[in-house]
Amino acid sequence: MVWLMSDYDTYDAIVVGGGISGLLSALTLGKKGNSVLLLEKANVLGGNCRTYEPPDCPGWRVDTGVHAITGLIYGPLKQLNHYFDPGKFPTFRQHTNYYLRKKDGLEKFPSTLPGFLKMDSLPAKDKMILGGCLINTVISHAIFGEKQKAVYDAISKHRLSKKTMQFMDALSYLLSGLSMKKTSVSRLLEGCGFSSGGKRGIFRRIAEIANLFNNIGYRSQGYPLGGIQSITDGVITSFPKNVEYHTREEVRKIEQVESGFCVSTLETDYFSDKVVYSGEVKKLPGIIEMPVEWSQQVKKLEQATAMTIWLGLKTPMTEFNYNGSEVFCDVCDTDKELFYWLMPVPELAPRNKGLIGVSTIIDPKKCHDSKEKLLNTIYSLVPALEKNIEMIHTQVMAPEKAAVSLNYFPSIKTPVKGLYVVGTDTDMRSMGITRAGYSVLELLKSL
Ligand SMILES: Cc1cc2nc3c(=O)[nH]c(=O)nc-3n(C[C@H](O)[C@H](O)[C@H](O)COP(=O)(O)OP(=O)(O)OC[C@H]3O[C@@H](n4cnc5c(N)ncnc54)[C@H](O)[C@@H]3O)c2cc1C
Repeated sequence: MVWLMSDYDTYDAIVVGGGISGLLSALTLGKKGNSVLLLEKANVLGGNCRTYEPPDCPGWRVDTGVHAITGLIYGPLKQLNHYFDPGKFPTFRQHTNYYLRKKDGLEKFPSTLPGFLKMDSLPAKDKMILGGCLINTVISHAIFGEKQKAVYDAISKHRLSKKTMQFMDALSYLLSGLSMKKTSVSRLLEGCGFSSGGKRGIFRRIAEIANLFNNIGYRSQGYPLGGIQSITDGVITSFPKNVEYHTREEVRKIEQVESGFCVSTLETDYFSDKVVYSGEVKKLPGIIEMPVEWSQQVKKLEQATAMTIWLGLKTPMTEFNYNGSEVFCDVCDTDKELFYWLMPVPELAPRNKGLIGVSTIIDPKKCHDSKEKLLNTIYSLVPALEKNIEMIHTQVMAPEKAAVSLNYFPSIKTPVKGLYVVGTDTDMRSMGITRAGYSVLELLKSL
């Protein structure tokens, strides 16, 4: 067939997918003067970065998963901030602390090495060993750069207690969605704020050693006022006129044509010079013909499944009266649900009520059991909670399109000229929205 481009809508760039990575791609390309079309298959924009009213719980609002946004001081959102129109960049309240919930209350989760050594919850011998490992690893990362080594491989030779091994496993699940056998040491260091990840100069890396004693990364986390939807809304309302978007239009096929691409949805065909794909990279070979080796590599990307239970409280509770979030990982259990991450989000609750979100990593085949187990764990730790519940809303989602394991990650530039991929399965740094932001910065560098 001969394509006559003049018969069709043509753009400088077509962005496939309207999650935060697609939205930020459209915003930045648009602000650089490109004509952009963004196509989203769902009926709303935002993907995993939304706040909504659950259909069966009128009056309540919840986010798509419990969120603390990292890297607000130096990270990608800060670097992309100037693409937002004045006053549209969200305001964040600081996510001040992490706590460990124990049967007798909360213990502040340490952010520095001295704090870690004072922590009550782990045996003294183990803390000394882990402290030594931490100093060695941070220094060797700073001087020699990052090596892909699993957390388990780094600590298993030290004969740590079962409790400490469970703690490290829980921390790995929390930071990567995977066990400590699959989580890399670099991911753990980054997640705890001891490294900013990726390529950086030797002086910056050496300066990061100071984070062991004064952790800036840990302090640069926040929660956007108005819910995570305010990030999505900030982007959409900053779109210049040359950015167009259509919802309810799934991209079924992308073909290379003489001077670019033909992007097909059920409704019509569009043409562009460049395509930025922000759906799951694994699914891209089903939409456009990709080299076999590349397609086989991306199939190896691993995904975790998270369950979040939102609990609406009849009245706010002093037990959750803190700014930050808590983790619980003290149960002697052998499967994945040995930890939870809980965050009070009072600003989304109706007046004079309370709201907490609790997330954990689950086996998707055991959703029902996981829900019951998670609820029972919380009720046993905070007995007054059960009688104070007015609303329960459950979400099962993939927190990221790929969890950072020791596996290969594709780069933003694909083997097909003019076709780029962005999103949480294209950059290994940080996690979630911050990782999506890093991928957009890489896109801008690659163009
Ligand atoms: C429980 C939980 C906790 C989380 N905690 C945090 C946190 O603390 N901090 C943080 O930063 N992040 C967190 N996240 C993750 C974060 O929300 C996501 O990683 C991020 O929003 C993903 O953005 P994305 O654009 O890469 O992907 P997505 O949001 O998945 O967007 C992809 C979009 O592309 C669309 N699409 C796909 N294929 C097509 C197609 N063929 N045609 C048209 N459209 C298509 C999809 O419908 C979707 O809208 C959490 C997530 C969960 C679930």
